[in-house]
Amino acid sequence: MPETVRVRFAPSPTGKLHVGGARTALFNWAFARGRGGVFLLRIEDTDPERSRREHEAEILEGLAWLGLDWDEGPDVGGPHGPYRQSERLERHRELADRLLAEGRAYRCFCGPERLAELRAEQEARKQTPAYDRRCRSVAPDESARRAAAGEAFTLRFLVPEGETRFRDAVRRDVTFANAEVDDWIMVRTDGKPTYNFVVVCDDADMAVTHVLRGEEHLVNTPKQVLLYRALGFDVPEFGHLPLMLGTDGRKLSKRTGDTALADYRDGGYPPEALANFLCLQGWALDGETEVFSLETLVERFDVADVGKAGSVFDPDKLLWLAGEYVRADSPERLAERCAPFVAAAGLADADELERRRPWFVDVLRTEQERIRTYAELPARIAYLFAADDAVEYDDKALKNARKHARARELLEEYGAWLAERFDEGPDAVREATKAWVVERELKMPVLFQPLRLALTGLPGGPDLFEVMALLGRDASLRRIRVAGERLA
Ligand code: GLU
Repeated sequence: MPETVRVRFAPSPTGKLHVGGARTALFNWAFARGRGGVFLLRIEDTDPERSRREHEAEILEGLAWLGLDWDEGPDVGGPHGPYRQSERLERHRELADRLLAEGRAYRCFCGPERLAELRAEQEARKQTPAYDRRCRSVAPDESARRAAAGEAFTLRFLVPEGETRFRDAVRRDVTFANAEVDDWIMVRTDGKPTYNFVVVCDDADMAVTHVLRGEEHLVNTPKQVLLYRALGFDVPEFGHLPLMLGTDGRKLSKRTGDTALADYRDGGYPPEALANFLCLQGWALDGETEVFSLETLVERFDVADVGKAGSVFDPDKLLWLAGEYVRADSPERLAERCAPFVAAAGLADADELERRRPWFVDVLRTEQERIRTYAELPARIAYLFAADDAVEYDDKALKNARKHARARELLEEYGAWLAERFDEGPDAVREATKAWVVERELKMPVLFQPLRLALTGLPGGPDLFEVMALLGRDASLRRIRVAGERLA
């Protein structure tokens, strides 16, 4: 029976979830789900100064918002727990002691001064700085005696001679000479283990079969592979996902767009759009189809198809995708998702929107084609919540209306006519209004521009008869009357 795929996402809870991290999580999740495997979360909180529980909670929330779920993790538990690295320190110590006892690791008593001198000398000789392995020759009993006497030491991994190979699904077979790997520090003077050490202990203990992570970790992989071997553990398969670049071709940063997942959630992007967009960062469905769901990703994703080249995180493309998802959504669900944005803009409180739900769904029906994010809605519909005598008139809308000398009289006349017809409904009134304009030998904008100003204060927007239906009879007629006065 083939081995069950077990993959993990291992964020450090030191800040917001980065879009690059979200992509890593997404690919791991899809890989597990497509193979009947297990997707687990491990919180790498070994840096006590920078790790925060709030960050951990936000990261989990962000992943769930994106549509991901996990089988094992700090919140749901699992057979390989605990899932917070800080709670596994005893096991880390046990494995470190084992390596020391077996002579695969050694105590290094070189203090910061000596290491700084060594580095300066190597730099002066234009050599790559590396530890010169002096403490390898400290005899085990002397080493134990010095440690017992309280001398400070770090624990270094003893890199064996030879050459090492590992499988990388993205970069294929990777080979490196062990001589290029420094005798790296496994445990610091204060007894705290380092990332390269604990990541291997935990991945092995959690029976992780594939390590899919960002390319920035490729430099760490030789150290980790050597450690797996030293501990006698199976080496997982790796897959280093290409860097995500900004539109300026440099490493993704704030310069060319938001980098925190939460900024997109707070900016009103549909989570499905962001998930879809992240799928396109380093992977493609068929080279053509750009809009596809997470179900499709799960069916088709294989880490072997991830490209090596960096992918460009283009915020304009994301905005376009967001619009695609908004247009494809149901007005009912859009209403639900947009309501918090309308409330946050101070247009109406959540209860009022809930009470007027059918009306609010109709609002979404008229605006759905025009917005790309939920956050774009409030500014477009603020007029619906304004007092009838205080609709804010946009300069351009006002200018458009004033082009027509008789705008005021026309609005008065039309208002009186409309009062008799309003209840016939938008379609009938639209047709009758057009006939009304034609009868007077006018061009449509002569009425429609002042009318749009009166009802919405905006230069453009949805069909005016739908707008009237949303405003209702009284508000529509009142706004037309008020506009007559305001145009005077
Ligand atoms: N905690 C590491 C990070 O956030 C995980 C790296 C790994 O996946 O090995 O970058």
